[in-house]
Order: sequence, then structure tokens, then C-alpha cells
Amino acid sequence: MDAESFEKHGAQLLRYVTSYMENIRDRPAFPDVKPGYMRELIPDTAPENAEPWEAVFSDIERVIMPGVLHYRSPKSHAYWTVGFSFPSLLGDILTDATGSIGSFWANASGAILTCLLAARTLTFRTQQRTQPDVTLGQVTDRLVAYCSDQTFPAVIKAGMLGGVRMHSLETDHKGALRGATLKAAILEDLGNGLIPFYLCATLGTTATCAFDNLKELGPLCEEHNMWMHVDAAYAGSAFICPEFRPLMDGVEYATSFNLNAHKWLKVTYECSPLWVKNTDYLQNNVKVETEFLKQTMGGDVMPDFRHWQISATSKPCRAIKVWFVLRLYGLTALQNFIRHDVAMAHEFEALVRSDVRFEIPADVIMGLVCFRLKGPNALTERLLKKLREDHKIYLIPAMMKGVYFLRLAICGPFVISSDVKYSWDVIRQAADVILGSAKE
Ligand code: PLP
Repeated sequence: MDAESFEKHGAQLLRYVTSYMENIRDRPAFPDVKPGYMRELIPDTAPENAEPWEAVFSDIERVIMPGVLHYRSPKSHAYWTVGFSFPSLLGDILTDATGSIGSFWANASGAILTCLLAARTLTFRTQQRTQPDVTLGQVTDRLVAYCSDQTFPAVIKAGMLGGVRMHSLETDHKGALRGATLKAAILEDLGNGLIPFYLCATLGTTATCAFDNLKELGPLCEEHNMWMHVDAAYAGSAFICPEFRPLMDGVEYATSFNLNAHKWLKVTYECSPLWVKNTDYLQNNVKVETEFLKQTMGGDVMPDFRHWQISATSKPCRAIKVWFVLRLYGLTALQNFIRHDVAMAHEFEALVRSDVRFEIPADVIMGLVCFRLKGPNALTERLLKKLREDHKIYLIPAMMKGVYFLRLAICGPFVISSDVKYSWDVIRQAADVILGSAKE
């Protein structure tokens, strides 16, 4: 493709993407094809010679789109919002064109792992001060990290990759990890000769959007020289609104903190800024000098970000798209997007509360409503099955303390009241069928 064709085809693709976003409401929220459907639609081998753009372009609808789960559809309420904005897309084009290597963290899982490994190294060095001959293996064998029973699986994975014990602690009735529980676990583990070294607290858990109590957890981590990482993957973006900041009280105790701008800050995948109280902790962990990678410019003025992360190079730059988004929206608009999504969640909450057959098992604080049919879990399981068969909206289930429920997250970038009402009508009608007050 030469430059002239790029301009021409690029304009066509931009028109396609614009129309896709503007009309996403008309597409099914999740695909109706079987895994592997694509095999019959594409050849077995890569083409020997170049194909025309038109052939590729027309296959977007024929081959790709039937299998796409449209997470940004206003009918998709699964997981969390998937960051999107036109400024971010433009930023991605420029980023790809310049090929700049990035320093923003890739995703929350990477940030969590990086911090756990840095905490492991930090604790090892501390132990070495009093026992110079101790090995990393000997220390690692005694290390214990903590998370809660509501933590995102990435934290468990980080423990596995770091080769350390991970103790999952019970949360309170709201799904929050409390100081007394952590304290009891620390004391028990110390009594067993273990070394508590890392806690991953969550602000905005995935199942119910619960907030761990940092004001209680932080002082304990400080007292026991433990690294407190705060995973605010979803809820972190909301802290650009002052009214939500009390939810992160105690954050001053955090050793590190990540949020996913690619969830709720209008930035496309993937962009999880990581804040670390002392970047030496990261450098001590993975600093490797090589002649051909030595910084020749910047000197002491700019940090050498490659020493803060696992990947030495080859990471796309995220800063350009963040810069585009911040400038082309401005703080007020970004705050309003968040407030709008929260308002949509409360609209849905009010609809659910107006129907006595349903209950809401968790506080609605941000853009997520957890709801279920009153009675045994099996009823709500049947409701989800029916909703999947109806194929009109997309929801996922979750479970907390044995209670099964559905999550309705405000995901799409253009969710309005009529979408919320549409989703509620679909749910209400499915419930009529499940509970036998309507015929299928
Ligand atoms: N932490 C929480 C609380 C999440 O909800 C998620 C994803 O939904 C993650 C971490 C993982 O984020 P990522 O996909 O960026 O690794």
C-alpha cells in the first residue's frame, strides 16, 4: 500500500469506524456464531500475493463482525466499560505512525505483578541486611502476600508467577477487606515463621464494586513493612470527580496504585497508569544496563522508564492518546461522562427496586448494579439462561458469599436512559417467563 492508497483507504476505514460506533446500537450485543465459525470463511494459508484493499475491506463485515462481541454496545452490560473515544483512536494512529516506545503500564495485571516482584526484592534486600548469606529462594519460601476473596484473578496469578504464598482473606458483608481480618492473618503468619510482605487492596472490586478499607489496612502495612498495592482498575478513573474521593481515604498509605484509563477514562486498550511512591523500588528489581540501550539524552532530567518495568523495549506509547483525550475533552467533560454513567446505574437501580420480585445485593456506588431474583440462586441462573437465549442484551453473573446475582454495568460510551429502560424491559419480561407470569 503506497501513501496515496493509505490516505484513500484510511478515509474509507475512518468512515466505517465512525458509522460502526454511531450505529452500534443496531448490532446484536453478542455474537450468534459457534467458536471456529471463521475457519470456513477464510483460506487455509496466507495469500501468496497481495490482495486488493477492497477484498480485505469487504471481509470485515463478512468474516470479522459476525464473531465480535460488541462490548461498547449500549446493550452490553458485562464486565466494565471498555474505554473509547474518537480522540483516543486518533492518538493511536499517531502513536503507531511514530513507533514511539511507551512507558505507561500495559494493563492492571502487569502493574500488579511488577509491584509484587518489586516488593519481593525489597523484602529480600531487607532480610539480607541482618542475614547476609540468606538466598532469594530461602526468603521467597517464607513470603506471604494477601488479597481478599473479592480480588481480581490477576492478583492470584501474580502470586503464582512470583512464587509466593497468597492468602485470600475474607471480606465483610459488603465485600470489603477490613483491618481486623488482615491483622489476624498477619499475626498468625508471623507466628508460623512467615514474612508478610505485600497486600493488594482493591478499590472497586469486579463482582460488586466494593471498596477495601484503606484507612484500616494502610497503617497495618506500614507497621509490618509491607507493600500496599491499590488496584483501582475500574473505580480509579472516578476519582477525577471530587465527590468520589472519600472512597479512597487512606490512599496515602499506598506504596503503589493503578487505574485503567482504558476502562473509564475514554482511552482505548490498553492503558493502565501505575503510580509508585518510590521508584527506586522498581529499579532495584529489574534494572539491567546494556550499552546499546543506554540513555543518550535526558540524563538526570527524565527517569529511564525501562528500568521500571518488565519489558525492556517494545511497548507502544500510551501517552499520546491520553494527551489527545485530555486535551480534546477537558476535565469537565470527562467528569461528566463518569457522572452520567453513575446516574444511568441509579436509573436502573430505581427500576429494579420498583419490582418486588427483585433485590439488589450490593450498594450501587458507581456504574454497576448487582441484582437478582429473590429466592434461591437457581432462579437467577435460569433468568440469565433465558436472557442469553433471548439474545437481546449481554450480562454476566457473579457470586458473593454464596449469593448468585447478575451484574449490569454501564459499559457503552453512549448509554442513555432509553437504553437502560430497554435493558430493564428485556430483564423484566424474561423474569415474567421464569416466574411463570407470562407464556413464552
Ligand atoms: N482489577 C480489577 C478490579 C478489574 O476489574 C480488572 C478487570 O476487569 C483488572 C484488575 C484487570 O485489568 P487488566 O485487564 O487491565 O489487567
